Amino acid sequence: MDHVVVDDLDNSLQPAAVMRHLTDPLGCADLAINYYELAPGDSFAFAYHNHEVQEEVFVVLSGTATWVVGPEPAGSEDSADLVDPVDPGAPGERREVRVGPMEAIRVPPGQFQRGWNFGEDRVTALALGAPLAYGEQLKRDDCPACGDEVAVSIERASDDESELITVCGDCGAEVARWRRGDDGENERVR
Ligand SMILES: [Zn+2]
Repeated sequence: MDHVVVDDLDNSLQPAAVMRHLTDPLGCADLAINYYELAPGDSFAFAYHNHEVQEEVFVVLSGTATWVVGPEPAGSEDSADLVDPVDPGAPGERREVRVGPMEAIRVPPGQFQRGWNFGEDRVTALALGAPLAYGEQLKRDDCPACGDEVAVSIERASDDESELITVCGDCGAEVARWRRGDDGENERVR
């Protein structure tokens, strides 16, 4: 048996004010579990993305989060039958799903999604993913240089290794940047 105090766990640099990994501290073998606190405007993820083999459940504890989700993948009820895991859907055709306090959603393997705090109140939530390894992860965001949605990757900023950036897969431009603020919480810089 393992026991942790969530508030004692390290804050990971993420697009959320606070994100504490519980997976390793609890010694989880087949489950990823993370605790999130999102300030207004924050996101659960660095980009609109999917997981090749991992299903994810988000439980909103307080506040209201909004997920932008792509098409339901074929075979989504059984990851073993997954046929087309990579269709992100056209930006105008994605659904928005509002998830209030003590509500939960499941995202099957393959489906693109990104959760946000579009509200004015802080969001607290748990994210659970299984199996622990998510396989390939495809990430997309709007590149200001290309003027289009592109594949992006997450990298350490070359000019400041303490900051994380997403980079356009087409032109190499920096798309977004996050850092640890003076108050100990994560913040988006651009
Ligand atoms: Zn670009």
